[in-house]
Amino acid sequence: NDRLASVDASLASAIAEEVARQEAHIELIASENYASRAVMEAQGTQLTNKYAEGYPGKRYYGGCEFVDKVETLAIERACALFGADYANVQPHSGAQANAAAFMALIKPGDTVLGMSLAHGGHLTHGAAPNFSGKHYHAVQYGLNPATGEIDYEEVERLAREHRPKLIIAGFSAYSRVIDWRRFRTIADEVGAWLLVDMAHVAGLVAAGHYPSPLPHAHVVTTTTHKTLRGPRGGLILSATGDEALYRKLNGAVFPGQQGGPLMHVIAAKAVAFREAMSQDFVRYQAQVIDNARAMANVFVERGFDVVSGGTDDHLFLVSLIKQGVTGKDADAALGRAHITVNKNAVPNDPESPFVTSGLRIGTPAVTTRGFSVDECEALAGWICDILDVLTERRNSDAVEDEVREKVAELCERHPVYGVTMPGAES
Ligand code: PLP
Repeated sequence: NDRLASVDASLASAIAEEVARQEAHIELIASENYASRAVMEAQGTQLTNKYAEGYPGKRYYGGCEFVDKVETLAIERACALFGADYANVQPHSGAQANAAAFMALIKPGDTVLGMSLAHGGHLTHGAAPNFSGKHYHAVQYGLNPATGEIDYEEVERLAREHRPKLIIAGFSAYSRVIDWRRFRTIADEVGAWLLVDMAHVAGLVAAGHYPSPLPHAHVVTTTTHKTLRGPRGGLILSATGDEALYRKLNGAVFPGQQGGPLMHVIAAKAVAFREAMSQDFVRYQAQVIDNARAMANVFVERGFDVVSGGTDDHLFLVSLIKQGVTGKDADAALGRAHITVNKNAVPNDPESPFVTSGLRIGTPAVTTRGFSVDECEALAGWICDILDVLTERRNSDAVEDEVREKVAELCERHPVYGVTMPGAES
């Protein structure tokens, strides 16, 4: 028997512990979700064995006739889902999709303008320790501290002053609708490419609940595992009809950034794109937003500052500056109650990025497991109970114990891979 548990008991047991954690803890990390069993089944196949450097019909290896079918299905579905006429489904991750887009569009040393990490951008949008900040001259824009929303006037001013070759729009922590058209107008004015990284909202975009960047951006990148609910991975799209650009993007992914594509992951992406075309998925994404809005409202009613005052998407940021509570302490206390969130910097944060004064809360995962608006409101209330205790500098043990029990009950009501999860009934 060469099954995992008999080959490698210690590894199997670590996986079993993680599976149990996912069932018994409430997941509010905005970038996480639960892929369907069909997605995981595709990813766990013999496709992992196949080398397929190149693209369908033009491979550097033999025996690619069937993986060609798989990759072609993934490309066609990605294009249909997002209204694109170009898709590259090979990037191993969102970061690699962005690295390839940079490589295709600009040269090392060129100026790029992206949203700063501290204000909700991603590392790959020009942060100093990342390739995007090390190999390019990165200029960063942020939020207007008064409104908590993107300061388009600042973006415009910085673009005029620095004349970037590439402007990046998109985020890891922003709860409002981005004006993609405005970004494109600014890019056109200074002769820059516009790259939109829609990693966080790709599922909402696919479902038509968040404006699509495809009509505005030259290139769109995304991950496939967040709101889109597929396997971990990256994707590059475009709807410009610019064949020369498409050739550059393909060359930047392979051989520019990567070797052989992960055909098992590409198969799983194809499954996820198909699932995302269903009416169930459209309803799911609407529920994600309803749940996020309901939770954000509870925080506001309980006296907490929600950055920008609320949310239009799947996440929101709670600022704890007023309470004098750090994101690190809040994250730890909630973790003890089996609620997983992440600490996050907020505008005007007096704390370091390792400590922070905020929490990022997202509803994609809890919505996949079937939480209703009422249940999300109750959950937000429990989080506020824990935060209140921290604010008052009281011992939080009793409240954490009480919340942990309620969390256990709610999790049992909604098993992750039970029949409540669309696409997981098998
Ligand atoms: N882009 C954005 C906006 C993200 O939020 C993330 C991940 O958090 C990435 C890119 C990177 O994706 P990955 O972790 O797959 O490299």
